[in-house]
Amino acid sequence: MGYTGRCACDTVQVVIEAEAVSVRQCWCRHCQHLAAGNATTNAFFPAEAVSTTGELVWNSHKADSGNELHWAFCPQCGSQMLAYSTARPQFRGVRVGAIDQPHDLAPQAIIWTSEAPAWAKLDPDLPHFAGQPPAAPPKTD
Ligand SMILES: [Zn+2]
Ligand SMILES: [Zn+2]
Repeated sequence: MGYTGRCACDTVQVVIEAEAVSVRQCWCRHCQHLAAGNATTNAFFPAEAVSTTGELVWNSHKADSGNELHWAFCPQCGSQMLAYSTARPQFRGVRVGAIDQPHDLAPQAIIWTSEAPAWAKLDPDLPHFAGQPPAAPPKTD
């Protein structure tokens, strides 16, 4: 089982040949910038299982966790596609908005809740973390 996806203008395609190891919603300020005021939702896969076609532009910044975050988007339409942290280069985060529907990916945890706006509705049935979780994404084995 795997997934396919694309940016809003279909210039960039992604193929994922693995199950997600975790899916998290992130409310850090950086994600709010990228997601136009909302959280980002990110599914994490083994890096070698994720491949793309089409031109991606990569950028990076120092995340609030202190880790270097690298993130990629389509230069034509601006859709956020991929991200990874230098702390966990073995995983690729795929922005769930890019993944073709229907799919079974839903958030399993909410992180950086301390930076969420007061109006944000945070699912009370999910684990909440005020900042970066201690060990994430979890291993599947
Ligand atoms: Zn695009
Ligand atoms: Zn974030």
